[in-house]
Amino acid sequence: MLRSAAPHTVIVKDKKFTVSVPASRIRQEVSRIADELNRDYAGRTPLFLAVLNGSFVFAADLLRLVSVPCQVSFVKLGSYEGLESGGEVRQLIGLGESVEGRDVVVVEDIVDTGLTMSRLLESLRAMKPASLSVCTLLLKPDKLLSDIDIRYCALRIPDNFVVGYGLDYDGFGRNYADIYSIIKE
Ligand code: 5GP
Repeated sequence: MLRSAAPHTVIVKDKKFTVSVPASRIRQEVSRIADELNRDYAGRTPLFLAVLNGSFVFAADLLRLVSVPCQVSFVKLGSYEGLESGGEVRQLIGLGESVEGRDVVVVEDIVDTGLTMSRLLESLRAMKPASLSVCTLLLKPDKLLSDIDIRYCALRIPDNFVVGYGLDYDGFGRNYADIYSIIKE
């Protein structure tokens, strides 16, 4: 399904993408974020909550550079038809650890409008963590609607659909080492 069309261009299913953030730049920025976390969480024992599926590559690279004692848990945002709103409600699943009194860091692949993150933070806040911060690989500042404090952000990107480094298009493209941006035709 994945075919290479040119060195910096890939076709994922029916769409063409071009490299927008090479792996070397991602490495640099992930390392910068890890330095910030090591500085800010010195003397504490944070609980990192990596949101699957998209954050698996980012979390693996980032957490190997985190040197403070920490725990890591993987959570997922399930969905069901909510009765109250009539729309789709995302619920947190897979959280094994107690969050109460912990310094929690949510690790995400991308914050777009921020609505998903906003709801996730709301659920986590109800569990009474000692502190709660957001660490995202990517942020699209032009799309952000929610007023969320994004304490750690590796890369700010324009409002284009991206794949690679864990992010997918219809399940494909997560395996690329670079981040690719869609070519609008
Ligand atoms: P938000 O609630 O911030 O608008 O959306 C967040 C979710 O939308 C992300 O967790 C991700 O699943 C998806 N998303 C938003 N933008 C992109 C993108 O450019 N590429 C991919 N692969 N997913 C995206």
